Amino acid sequence: MKTKLLFILSIFMLHVSFAQNKTVKAIKAGKLIDVEKGVVLENVTILVDHDTIKAIGKNISIPDSAQVIDLSNSTVLPGLIDCHTHITMQPSGDYYADIFRATQVDDAIMGTVFAKKTLEAGFTTCRDVGARGFADVALRNAINRGDIEGPRLFVATLFIGSTGSHGDIEGFSPYLDWNLPKQMTGVADGIDELRKQVRYNIKYGADVIKFGASAGVLTEEESVGAPQYSQEEMNAIVDEAKLWGKKTCAHAHGTEAIKMAVKAGVASIEHGSMLDDETIQLMIQHGTYLVADIYNDDYIRSEYAKLGYPDKIIEKEKLVGQVQRESFKKAVKAGVNIAFGTDAGVYPHGWNAKQFYYMVKFGCTPMQAIQAATVNAADLIGNKKIGTIKIGGYADIIAVKADVLKDITSLEHVSFVMKGGEVFKQ
Ligand SMILES: [Zn+2]
Repeated sequence: MKTKLLFILSIFMLHVSFAQNKTVKAIKAGKLIDVEKGVVLENVTILVDHDTIKAIGKNISIPDSAQVIDLSNSTVLPGLIDCHTHITMQPSGDYYADIFRATQVDDAIMGTVFAKKTLEAGFTTCRDVGARGFADVALRNAINRGDIEGPRLFVATLFIGSTGSHGDIEGFSPYLDWNLPKQMTGVADGIDELRKQVRYNIKYGADVIKFGASAGVLTEEESVGAPQYSQEEMNAIVDEAKLWGKKTCAHAHGTEAIKMAVKAGVASIEHGSMLDDETIQLMIQHGTYLVADIYNDDYIRSEYAKLGYPDKIIEKEKLVGQVQRESFKKAVKAGVNIAFGTDAGVYPHGWNAKQFYYMVKFGCTPMQAIQAATVNAADLIGNKKIGTIKIGGYADIIAVKADVLKDITSLEHVSFVMKGGEVFKQ
C-alpha cells in the first residue's frame, strides 16, 4: 500500500515538475532571418524542446504545455558567434600590472564576468583564441555544466609563438622571464617542439590551435608584420593539429606571413591586416576564412594611452589599423570567406556587436555581416548545430526590436537572448 502510494505520488510529482519546467517553448517571430538562404521570413513560429529546435513554420501546432514567447514585434535571428575573443582578459588600466602582477586566477575570475556580458550582448558562441593557464578550459567547462552563464566556448588555450615573438614576453630585461614550466608559456621553436606544444595544448583541452605567424601590435617586439615562424614550422603545426582532428588559426598581420600560413593550411587568418591581390587569390583558392577585427582600432587609438600602454604599441596600431580596413574591403569584394571576429578583450567585453557597423561600412551588405557572425562562423568552427535556426540545431536564438537589415547597429541592443532553449535575457 505504502509502495503504491509512493509510486502514485512520484508520478504526480513528475508531472508537476514537467509542467513547471516548460521545456517546450514556442517563439512567435514577427520577422525571422534565414541566414542560409539570406532571406527574411514573416510570422513564423519556432518550437523548442529542451535545448533543440523541433519545428519551424507558419502553421505548426503549439502544444498546450508550451510556454509562448511573443516576439511578433521583433526580428529574430540565430545567436551571434564571435570567432576571435579573449574572454578571460581585458585591460585593467595598468599595463604593467596586467603583464607582471595578474595571474591566471585573476583571468579565470574575471572570465566569469566577461562571459555573462558577452552572452547578454547576444553572442551565444565564441571561439576564444588565446588565454593564460587554461583559464579558458575551466570557463568553457563551467559554462557547459551550467554552473555559470556564458556563451558556448571553443577554446585555443595557449597561444603558440616563437622565442621573442608576439606570444613571448617581449621588450624587457632577460632577467625577467616566464616563471612557468616551459610548455605553459606556449613558446616553442622548431618542428619537434611545435609538434609537442600542439599535443600539449590538446591534452589540456584545446578545441582549436592558434599560433603567431607574424609579429603583433599589442606587444613590444619591433616589427608588426614580419613572419615569426618558418614555412616548415607552420606546416608542422597545422599538420600535427590535423592528426588530432583540430583546425588551426593563425595570428597574421604581414602579407608574407599571411601567405605562409595560408599555404600551411590554416582554417583562418586572424587580423589579416596587409592583403595584396595575390594573397587574396591564395585565400580564395584554399577556402581560408578571414577573421578581421576591424572595430578595435578606434578603441585602441582613443583609449590605450589612458590605459597606460606604451607609445610604441600605439604607434604600431597606427601602422595597421586603417590598412586593415582597406584590406578587408578588398577581400569582401573579391569573395574571400569572411567570419566575424572582434578581438574582444582588447576593448570591453559585451561590445562585440560594434564591429557590424564597420563591416558594412567597409563592403559587406548587412545580410553578409550577419552571415559572417552566424552561418559562416559555424562553418569555420566546424559545428553544424550552431549558427542557423533549423530543425535539430541548438535553440540559440536572439531578437532585436528594429529592422536589423536597415539598421545594423541595432545588433548592439539585443532585446532577447536564448541559448540552448534557456532564456537569458528578455
Ligand atoms: Zn587576439
